Amino acid sequence: MPRYRAQQIARWLYGKHVDSLEEMTNLSLSDRRRLGEVAEIRAPRPREERVSADGTKKYAFLTDGGDVVEAAMIPDGERRTLCLSSQVGCRVGCRFCATGAMRLRGNLSAGEILNQYRSMPERDQITNIVYMGMGEPLDNLPAVIESARLLTAEEGYGLSNRRITLSTVGKPAPLARFLENCDVRLAVSLHTPFQEQRRELMPGTRGYDLLELMQLLRRRAYGDSRRVTFEYVMLKGVNDSPEHADATAELVSGMRTRVNLIPFHPWDGNDMQPSLPAQIEQFRARLERRGVTATVRASRGLDIEAACGLLATKHPG
Ligand code: SAH
Ligand code: SF4
Repeated sequence: MPRYRAQQIARWLYGKHVDSLEEMTNLSLSDRRRLGEVAEIRAPRPREERVSADGTKKYAFLTDGGDVVEAAMIPDGERRTLCLSSQVGCRVGCRFCATGAMRLRGNLSAGEILNQYRSMPERDQITNIVYMGMGEPLDNLPAVIESARLLTAEEGYGLSNRRITLSTVGKPAPLARFLENCDVRLAVSLHTPFQEQRRELMPGTRGYDLLELMQLLRRRAYGDSRRVTFEYVMLKGVNDSPEHADATAELVSGMRTRVNLIPFHPWDGNDMQPSLPAQIEQFRARLERRGVTATVRASRGLDIEAACGLLATKHPG
């Protein structure tokens, strides 16, 4: 086919969101037929939708493999944030995360990741996209890179790269590769400044060196103005002590960064406890006193299990 066809097809797919090749009316009939021999458009709508009292919505999508993945839409003033999944389950196995307790059931294709955006009802109102749903994005690197590029590419969905955030535990080698290919915002799940404890809490980080990760992040946050956010789930008596706050401040000192404290969301079958609000506030203030910008994330969608770390497949197949 002539080269300009590629752009025409992209426009139909990402601009007009067509559901079939037949709708690509500026392609000749024979080109549409040839395309049909090697490709199809499969964009399943969510099969289930739940709405939280706070307006957060959770959508369940069926994967090609017959599993269910979830995406959440979180309204906040003018903002509409879509929280995407990259895998069914997760093999990092963090002790506080319901997705981790599922273990890994499978990777999503780039199409399955993008379809959570493409086929959700509020698509045209979405202002921000975060890869913070089920899965560790860097464990599904090719599909995640492809999806992030198509979200931001001019010939793709054309969204601003500043409105897309990848959340990851930050394995250095795949993270470096991701950063070579995609320029989006980064949120790194830290959860403790102490490597040994981190390996306990997040078993999938055992083979990785925290200081190597920090070096990589420092290079990125230093060379230009791209600031990295750290996420820190507040677990009572586990990682919420003044020593943890001080060591965290030390670890990130001199970086343009923000530490986002996330109240732990308890779930059935897990015996960890959330830190008390006063403890979280002390921790936040202690970081601030040491020059680190720190915020507390509001919990959203708790009543429908759409909040961070609660996405897990309970649906019957
Ligand atoms: N795997 C990636 C992205 C998905 S998890 C990552 O870990 O960064 C998104 C965020 O939810 C992470 O910061 C994670 O630590 C947090 N989270 C997991 N379980 C949680 C829970 N039970 N309560 C609150 N936050 C949780
Ligand atoms: Fe996986 Fe993230 Fe959950 Fe850890 S917190 S198990 S990396 S999804």
